[in-house]
Amino acid sequence: MLKKVLIANRGEIALRILRACKELGIQTVAVHSVVDRELKHVKLADEAVCIGPNPSTASYLNIPAIVAAAEVTRADAIHPGYGFLAERADFCEQVEKSGFAFIGPTANVIRLMGDKVSAIEAMKKAGVPTVPGSDGPLPHNAERCLEFGRKIGYPVIIKAAAGGGGRGMRVVHEEKQLLGAIDVTRSEAAAAFGDGTVYMEKFLQNPRHVEVQVLADTHGNAIHLGDRDCSLQRRHQKVMEEAPAPGIDEEARKKVLKACVDACNEISYRGAGTFEFLYEDGHYYFIEMNTRVQVEHPVTEMVTGVDIIKEQLRIAAGLPLSYRQEDIHITGHAFECRINAEDPRNFMPSPGRVNQFHSPGGLGVRWDSHIYSGYTIPPYYDSMIGKLITHADDRDQALARMRSALDELVITGIKTNTPLHQELVVDPGFVKGGVNIHYLEHLLAESQ
Ligand code: ADP
Repeated sequence: MLKKVLIANRGEIALRILRACKELGIQTVAVHSVVDRELKHVKLADEAVCIGPNPSTASYLNIPAIVAAAEVTRADAIHPGYGFLAERADFCEQVEKSGFAFIGPTANVIRLMGDKVSAIEAMKKAGVPTVPGSDGPLPHNAERCLEFGRKIGYPVIIKAAAGGGGRGMRVVHEEKQLLGAIDVTRSEAAAAFGDGTVYMEKFLQNPRHVEVQVLADTHGNAIHLGDRDCSLQRRHQKVMEEAPAPGIDEEARKKVLKACVDACNEISYRGAGTFEFLYEDGHYYFIEMNTRVQVEHPVTEMVTGVDIIKEQLRIAAGLPLSYRQEDIHITGHAFECRINAEDPRNFMPSPGRVNQFHSPGGLGVRWDSHIYSGYTIPPYYDSMIGKLITHADDRDQALARMRSALDELVITGIKTNTPLHQELVVDPGFVKGGVNIHYLEHLLAESQ
């Protein structure tokens, strides 16, 4: 096993990684910005190193400072968490060149999946269903672009190959807008991502967001841990997630789960990963792969009993997975509410001091968070301050448990989006299950 892991992240995921390390007897190194010395995992870690000033560009994105901290503390591996440097191939390369294990896939695979055009190509090869589209970059030839548009059928979406975080996309409803939209998306992509490559896809009108969790070790074993539904989104940001995805045809699901495992073998995937799909009228359409652990991994952990972070640590140590596919059974249903420090009506961030904090509890209730009474949420980072997760025998009971848990959660001194979640868990459409990715935005627009 690994002896000492440096956690190159902050907040709840840093604490989550620390907990897994502790259970496995692995020493931990926390790296943090100046203001983050008050973080819970920094206090709990065996060692802590301040890597820079508060802005993340100077600290959590500061590759030389993080690698130097690993050298000074003699860590043997670096866990990037999610966000920050987790999907930066150059970071992975630096880490490995400096002699540390990167807890994630190889730099080549991060690069392959980071470029949406090459990712789609690799998925098609592996038999993963993709969105009908240009199957490659759009050429600098107006007539050929128009042909693609006619063949695919409107509406279409123009997407940047290097895009991410919901940026670098433009929907086109009719042919006369197409060439202008391609030009604008190209120049925006060149400015934002340093790569103006764009491609075209059919724009799906009312899809759900369904994703598949996978794990792969370095001994040729790849397995899936079932699926999740993350359709409740605002501005392409997930708000609440659940596992398994409700109301999916079992045959279609089986096929896509197997295709994801095949794809892992095809690209020699290593570590934890997620295949994201749009799901419409019984069909799956691959949109991208995340080559890291995701915020919503706990719902999968609750229904499978697999500790995904521990598996990541085992894989990085060169050990085989602890499970074979036949060991994985989906038991019950789980929900996760992302609790953000923000105004529940206008979504303005609400950093500041947490005066009082009481965690919900009881059977099947999990609270993954770094906050405590007296902790001050700094304004420099993401507004997510915790994840409330419930698990029960079926969807209705897990939802009932979430209602009760949300009522128990007390956070004073700052505003949180808890009231929004309280409305969602009793919303008739959501309670029924299987809402599409526009549902929450429509609901919010109606209540304005
Ligand atoms: P990013 O990497 O920026 O998150 P994605 O490719 O994952 O980009 O797409 C983000 C979101 O944009 C999706 O969750 C979906 O809401 C929307 N989207 C992307 N492609 C399509 C498409 N072909 N049809 C409809 N919506 C799409």
